[in-house]
Amino acid sequence: MTLRHPAPTDEVVELCRDLLRIDSTNTGDTRTSAGERVAAEYVAGKLAEVGVEPTILETEPGRTNVVARIPGTDPGRDALLVHGHLDVVPADPAEWSVHPFSGEVHDGYVWGRGAIDMKDFDAMTLAVVRDWQRTGVRPPRDIVLAFTADEEAGSDLGAHFLVERHPELFEGCTEAVGEVGGFSYTVNDNLRLYLVETAEKGIEWLRLHARGRPGHGSMIHDDNAVTALAEAVSRVGRHRFPLVVTPTVRAFLEEVSAALGVELDPDDPETAIAKLGPIANIIGATVRHTANPTRLEAGYKDNVIPGRATATIDCRTLPGDADEFIAQLREVIGPDLEIEHIQRQPAVETTFDGALVDAMAAALRAEDPGARAVPYMLSGGTDAKAFNRLGIRCFGFAPLRLPADLNFSALFHGIDERVPVDGLQFGVRVLDRFLRAS
Ligand SMILES: [Zn+2]
Repeated sequence: MTLRHPAPTDEVVELCRDLLRIDSTNTGDTRTSAGERVAAEYVAGKLAEVGVEPTILETEPGRTNVVARIPGTDPGRDALLVHGHLDVVPADPAEWSVHPFSGEVHDGYVWGRGAIDMKDFDAMTLAVVRDWQRTGVRPPRDIVLAFTADEEAGSDLGAHFLVERHPELFEGCTEAVGEVGGFSYTVNDNLRLYLVETAEKGIEWLRLHARGRPGHGSMIHDDNAVTALAEAVSRVGRHRFPLVVTPTVRAFLEEVSAALGVELDPDDPETAIAKLGPIANIIGATVRHTANPTRLEAGYKDNVIPGRATATIDCRTLPGDADEFIAQLREVIGPDLEIEHIQRQPAVETTFDGALVDAMAAALRAEDPGARAVPYMLSGGTDAKAFNRLGIRCFGFAPLRLPADLNFSALFHGIDERVPVDGLQFGVRVLDRFLRAS
């Protein structure tokens, strides 16, 4: 009697549940983070078990990455990178209807922190690779697998570390797939748009410093740092940067307008975007630079006017010249405040064309006849920003068919994060087809 292997569509659920049960919380500080080590060891074990040799790279204690390479049948071809992060943002059990690290299955969903961001895709990737190894399938080109640490805090201990210190692991990689894309947006019973990420906005985290004359709170005072800062911060918070429709957003809006039968006014795309429902928050943020004040700090006593005050501004920039954005922001802030750069990661953008994109669209259509792949720009950031530094074309393609009424974008970092079981299984089938054809 021979031992039968589990079907990848069954195993993906177990792999996802196992990963969700591992707390890999990233607080942004290694001292208070659970770390990715246990999850990384789990992944490495699942790869080694089927004969894929993992390389384990730890940056700080417990902050662990796993990289592996599966040789393709045609060594003359460039390699494809498939990447997923292993860390998750914190979750407060008191706010959840199930424990966020329970990996429970009910109502047709797998529940847990990381269920869609992004242990679901980690599990899909493992399920496909394990099935291939057991059944002797080899991909046409080399596939490099990267399971990374620290994505939720800027990837310095994860993807950026790998790119800077171990670029040899990605030798030959010209294209990559990872989060956040490949999920469905239901137009009607016969049409679902699958949003493939081909661009993401850049990150500019800035600290504004206002300086003034310190003094007594009871006296006339015309050089108050708190007042100067507050004025600048409120101007920034209310400011709307000019409308810029990039090639990615234009392609997306044209597809969506056609699908929804909405008239698209190129001078006013936001009217069309407003009709998109829950994803309008993401798409709406991709037609302008944005700048949101997030932190304020000043003073140490109720009756003392402090000599300085600081504010943090979270800016997200469109592809293009980031310095031009800073010049625009300077106009809003005025000449007196000092601008300190805390974090700068340029926007990335690639075109929605070529054999890899065709393979995505074909794999989706084979599993969902109503599927139509469309490019879009993510307003946030992912590990793609790091891998793009190696000249790799990065796509968000973690395929997932979602129920029409699920508010998917609210689940990212949200309470009761969960992934549909049939969505996971759909994802495995699409990923398998896509990787075989890539
Ligand atoms: Zn993520």
